[in-house]
Amino acid sequence: MKNIAVIGSGTMGNGIAHVFAQHGYSVSLIDISEEALKKALGTIEKNLDRQVAKQTLTEEGKKATLANIQTYTQIKDGVATADLVVEAATENVDLKLNIFKEMDAHAKAEAILSTNTSSISITKIASVTKRPDKVIGMHFMNPVPVMKLVEVIRGYNTSDAVTTTIMDMSKKLQKVPVEVNDYPGFVANRILMPMINEAIYSLYEGVAGVEEIDTVMKLGMAHPMGPLQLADFIGLDVCLSILRVLHDGFGNSKYAPCPLLVNMVQAGHKGVKSGNGFYQYTAGSKDLVVATQFKKV
Ligand code: NAD
Repeated sequence: MKNIAVIGSGTMGNGIAHVFAQHGYSVSLIDISEEALKKALGTIEKNLDRQVAKQTLTEEGKKATLANIQTYTQIKDGVATADLVVEAATENVDLKLNIFKEMDAHAKAEAILSTNTSSISITKIASVTKRPDKVIGMHFMNPVPVMKLVEVIRGYNTSDAVTTTIMDMSKKLQKVPVEVNDYPGFVANRILMPMINEAIYSLYEGVAGVEEIDTVMKLGMAHPMGPLQLADFIGLDVCLSILRVLHDGFGNSKYAPCPLLVNMVQAGHKGVKSGNGFYQYTAGSKDLVVATQFKKV
């Protein structure tokens, strides 16, 4: 495996491209606009600079990594020579089904098609392709260059050979792969999202404020980040999509998204990526400031 295509260059896609390119793979990074791709390359460069400053990467390593990335705005062009495709586009079922149909039509017959979906059924995604045995979940964690885990999700028809290839490939990226089966939310988000949703309900019901909830979980449970800050970091739209998949998939009201989360996403408050969520974010500032809506008077 030499050529990797990454579809979607947002929060996750640019991190996935970064990690493959740093490990010597040739990466085709695909998004719908030149603007999105330019932003992604800027983020990758900034993150590589951080590694150089920490002396975990040389200046030559940074240049070689950037030289390994080409960008495309058309899926058919970007996936043509790929041995492995990692789809990391927006968390939306219909969008992903369309992307998989398109990549199945244009990728080599032997190419493995993987998805970084947080929660959507791998089996469902595989069913729209002519190669369900070669479709698998490769769920990286955010931020991809830092986090060690890759949740490797076997769809109903994923072959043993493809699973082994992806487990081995993850180890080559110096990640720790964990094999799981295909049920809503897999393991990571089945456990994480109800906790985040409960934190939002605690805020919504006035049990405590934003900082208080996050402090309880940080200092009381030794979590590196409180659940509300983590939700902002993941993206509130992504959290809402995952909760909806859990709610629909299990038909259990315990996964119903908190109305406050629904309102925030409808208002365009998506967390770090939109500059506002439970906290407000200013470029260049590391201060954690509670969003105006949640400030105590
Ligand atoms: P994001 O919104 O930051 O980025 C999504 C990108 O996909 C955007 O740049 C968008 O332009 C692009 N896109 C949309 N339609 C496309 C198309 N047809 N072709 C090519 N590109 C297209 O989202 P994200 O947070 O990076 O999430 C991407 C995937 O990763 C989702 O499936 C999400 O569930 C999953 N994921 C997210 C996190 C997280 O912490 N954000 C963690 C693990 C997995």
